[in-house]
Order: sequence, then C-alpha cells, then structure tokens
Amino acid sequence: MFPELRKKFKYVGIETTTICNTDCFCCPRKNAYELSWQTMHMDLFEKIIMDIYENHDVERSIRFGGMGDPSCDKHLIKRLKFVKKMRQN
Ligand code: SF4
Repeated sequence: MFPELRKKFKYVGIETTTICNTDCFCCPRKNAYELSWQTMHMDLFEKIIMDIYENHDVERSIRFGGMGDPSCDKHLIKRLKFVKKMRQN
C-alpha cells in the first residue's frame, strides 16, 4: 500500500507468553513486571504476523521470546504453523 514505509528486518521478536515453569531468584516477573503470567490471544498474534508479512520484509526469522518461556505457550504449535503459512504466501 505504501511501499516507502516498508521496512526490512533481519529478525522480529514477539513475546507470546510471560509464563515460565522455572523460578529463578532474579526473575523480574516477581515484582517489577506487571504483565506476569499472560499469554497472547491467537487473534492478536495472527493480526501482528499478518501485518508484519503484508507490510514488511523479514530476512531471517520471527523469534518467540521475551520474559516468558515460549515452550510454555499452549498455542505454540498453532503459532508456528501460522507463521509458516504466512511465510509461504
Ligand atoms: S522468565 Fe526467565 S528469569 Fe524468569 S523464571 Fe523464567 S527463565 Fe527464569
């Protein structure tokens, strides 16, 4: 739509969950992170991924990470399949 606004990213990081099954003593989720124990809704995730692929170029990959452990996300497989589908389009 606006090709001049199209950006090229090497990587894009998305925090899909703040859930983690570890309990590190230094974890900021305990007192300094207000979004503890939340997982992104699939609808919002799909909207973000569609926006990224429709409006920008991702050279390498979409990374799941941030404050939580992405492997604790119950939607992880669905998210991976969705990203794969969007990359193929
Ligand atoms: S989010 Fe990171 S720092 Fe916090 S408990 Fe999990 S692994 Fe440890």
